Amino acid sequence: MSGCYIHIPFCAQKCSYCDFHFSTNHSYQNEMVEALCTELKIRSESWKDEEFQTIYFGGGTPSVLTSGQLQKLIGQVKSGYRVSNQVEITLECNPDDCSTENLTTWKKLGVNRLSIGIQSFNDEQLKWMNRSHSAADGLNAVRNAKQTGFDELSLDLMYGLPNMTAEEWKSQLLQVIALNPEHISAYCLTVEQRTALSKWVKEGKLTVSSNEQQSEQFELLVSTLKEAGYEQYEISNFARNEHYSKHNTAYWQGVKYLGIGPSAHGYNGKERYWNQANNKAYMTALKQGNLPETIEILSSFDRFNETLMIGLRTKWGVSKLQLFEDISPDKEWFKIVKDYEDQQLLIETPESIVLTEAGRLLADGIAAELFIIN
Ligand code: SF4
Repeated sequence: MSGCYIHIPFCAQKCSYCDFHFSTNHSYQNEMVEALCTELKIRSESWKDEEFQTIYFGGGTPSVLTSGQLQKLIGQVKSGYRVSNQVEITLECNPDDCSTENLTTWKKLGVNRLSIGIQSFNDEQLKWMNRSHSAADGLNAVRNAKQTGFDELSLDLMYGLPNMTAEEWKSQLLQVIALNPEHISAYCLTVEQRTALSKWVKEGKLTVSSNEQQSEQFELLVSTLKEAGYEQYEISNFARNEHYSKHNTAYWQGVKYLGIGPSAHGYNGKERYWNQANNKAYMTALKQGNLPETIEILSSFDRFNETLMIGLRTKWGVSKLQLFEDISPDKEWFKIVKDYEDQQLLIETPESIVLTEAGRLLADGIAAELFIIN
């Protein structure tokens, strides 16, 4: 079992808070698709024993691809790799790309899950975020997607926005619930270096929310979605009736994944690699038949800490079998686990360690306490 991630490094415009890898110059999209196909061809030999259960187009903004470009990429994966008949193919998309025409084409090409970047239903917020769409575009995108027959929709929202009150966040949540998607992802705004947001904050032009406001909004998120029947299966991800993202769930459970595209990373069970986060350098390397990657061989400690950090964020917790594969923690470590259990922040079973709802509010801190440093 494994997954395939393809990074599409283009966006219509630069959102003010974003530090992902992308370009707003679309003039060489065809050349990039050629390079992505070359990388898929080069890596296929070492993945010949794997069968992909999921293909995930992330970015950037994959919905800026033309139908021909998307068809070419899906065709390249299907012709060079073993792909499950039940494969989940997710496309991240911006609301303003979700025309009925595009949606119909994506569906024909085999895309069966959409992750729509709504982010906010408030036009003022969308404006300073420099999103390329309006609140009405978000609503239209969901309506069009449903009418086209997409029944696996994930909607992204952001909280902790400047001047956002608990009441406003609650109203945003009620709006997303009213759209009745199968899946909701909600992320807290973070101020990343080298973004317009970071500059505005430094210049005092924008004030971001306090830690207390963020925690309050996170708790509101969890309780409101729970009441509406959404299960929090990962800190930032909520699903109705077990409509989990298969791709991300596999990633959180330590399954191997192939990463294609500039800035993409992959994991084959032992080694992790990162592709160069530079479009021109990425394309040049592939034209010469080289993989623009850096390989990192994970130490047992790295694997332990990563498994712990990622696993604790999920409702399944971390599997002890997987966690203790190479490292057996000492008594002191189990004492910390017991202390957290006494505080009702986690539950230890013979098979796993799982955070309680209260523990999930402190997930990163608890994971850090349990890290083992060589
Ligand atoms: S659309 Fe997504 S990837 Fe592109 S700039 Fe905005 S947040 Fe970043």
